Amino acid sequence: MLKEFELKEFNSYIDIRNGILHLEDVSLKELARELGTPLYVYSASFIRDKVRAYREAFEDALICYAVKANFNPEVIKVALSEGAGADIVSGGELYAALKAGVPADRIVYAGVGKTVKELEYAIDKEILMFNVESKMELEVLDQIAGSLGKKARVAVRVNPDVNPKTHPYISTGMKKSKFGVDIDTAFEEYIYASRLPNLEVVGIHCHIGSQLLDISPYREAVEKVVNLYHRLRKEGIEIRYLDIGGGLGIKYRPEDREPTPHQLAELLLPVLEGVEAKLILEPGRSITGNAGILITQVQFLKDKGIKHFIIVDAGMNDLVRPAIYDAFHYVLPVESKGREHIIADVVGPICETGDFLAKDRRIENLDRGDFLAVLSAGAYGFAMSSHYNVRPRAAEVLVDRGSYRVIREREDYDYILGP
Ligand SMILES: *Cc1c(COP(=O)(O)O)cnc(C)c1O
Repeated sequence: MLKEFELKEFNSYIDIRNGILHLEDVSLKELARELGTPLYVYSASFIRDKVRAYREAFEDALICYAVKANFNPEVIKVALSEGAGADIVSGGELYAALKAGVPADRIVYAGVGKTVKELEYAIDKEILMFNVESKMELEVLDQIAGSLGKKARVAVRVNPDVNPKTHPYISTGMKKSKFGVDIDTAFEEYIYASRLPNLEVVGIHCHIGSQLLDISPYREAVEKVVNLYHRLRKEGIEIRYLDIGGGLGIKYRPEDREPTPHQLAELLLPVLEGVEAKLILEPGRSITGNAGILITQVQFLKDKGIKHFIIVDAGMNDLVRPAIYDAFHYVLPVESKGREHIIADVVGPICETGDFLAKDRRIENLDRGDFLAVLSAGAYGFAMSSHYNVRPRAAEVLVDRGSYRVIREREDYDYILGP
């Protein structure tokens, strides 16, 4: 098991006291006993620190927290308290951001398949900028804005065709991806957009992928975006916002070295020299990922001779990342009892072989009823959870300097089944 100082590399608000994991001075064992499991626990101070780190590294930038990573309005509020805006990809996320109190003029909206209803909603709320992903979307947005008697501010999402060297399912900036417009044809799209009467072209947007531990691809992408910026300005198209997306990677494995907003700024600010537009970033995972821990309880232990299984009450419906990305999450007992270690798979109760949280891990031998902590679960954890197997989704708790607050109650069966 990792030592306390190693756990602090995931989240500095983690402590071990009398062998028991604490987050922001709150005992995870007490929380699990009090509120039941599976339970998502998020650290408010961690979220505030991360937003502040971005704002300090990129001084005049607008930090639009990517709501899809964790849409709980109370989580969005914590980011907002440090001056963050919101990056949204659906009408529902717009609703969540507004509900949290994010001012509309700090909201940017991407997504390849925005519906008429969603576009109307966002035009009506006068969000800062639509990050438009196709020529057809430009046309539709222009028509709808016209019919509402409004103007919509737009950026074209460009595809800089760089390889972010991350999981193929979360790399979004390559030519063959469904996202954005090829950077080579983007110029023509801008000319086209600038002639549409109900659109105001104000920005350039790109987002090359997620979980980037090597930040060098950002530089290549931003260089291409800056080229386009200068070309457009020569054409008389005044670009006021340069939105370079999110994607900064986080530590999942003990050996991962996570890049900081400061390092990203050092890499990018020289490239942005001479650019007069306001910078926008859209970090999601790096804000909430390591703020969160999923707590789960051991139901059964099973020894199949060649393999041990620890069967827990959190499944792929609660945390799907291992199942769909073969993602790694560090798992450890909430309370260490100093036992010997075994090699085991930590698996959920769902009827799928893909339903696992961790494979072939060296872990302390546990008893039925013990609690396990799954680290780095604050982003794309609850947000991607489902009702598969009619399983109510987990409760969510926010801990903040010694106190805690339930920010989402556990669901019941009738909620799942509907009226
Ligand atoms: C998902 C997404 C983000 C956030 O990505 P992270 O890897 O969580 O930082 C930002 N912008 C857009 C357009 C996205 O789709």
